[in-house]
Order: sequence, then structure tokens, then C-alpha cells
Amino acid sequence: MSDDEPRVPIVCTDCGTDARIPLDDVADKLDAHNDRHHDGEEVATVDPDLADQLANLVVEDMGLLDEE
Ligand SMILES: [Zn+2]
Repeated sequence: MSDDEPRVPIVCTDCGTDARIPLDDVADKLDAHNDRHHDGEEVATVDPDLADQLANLVVEDMGLLDEE
């Protein structure tokens, strides 16, 4: 019943991979993928479009928290 957990699309241009990862796991999954497939290079990344949106959301969240 926790399907509303935010999921982040990640893309790997080398592998042609795209996947949606729960926000909490994204950093670990990217690390693991790049470690395993790309010798630790940051080939797989969060979808750039969404990264922008997430950055905005995080900023908004911080703004809201600041007001309290
Ligand atoms: Zn890859």
C-alpha cells in the first residue's frame, strides 16, 4: 500500500537502460550499476529532465520547512 512512494527514472546511455527506482534507493542503485558495468564511472544518471523537477521540489520542500 505504499505505491505513492516517489520513483525516479534513471537512464544509462551505454546500456540503453531505463528504470524507475524508489527515491530512497536511487543513489545506491546508480552506484551499484556504474560500479558493476562501468568501472565506477558515472554513466547511468537520473533522467536530466526529472532531476530538474526534483531539484525544484526539494527547494520548495526546504522553503516550506523553513517557514516553521
Ligand atoms: Zn550502464
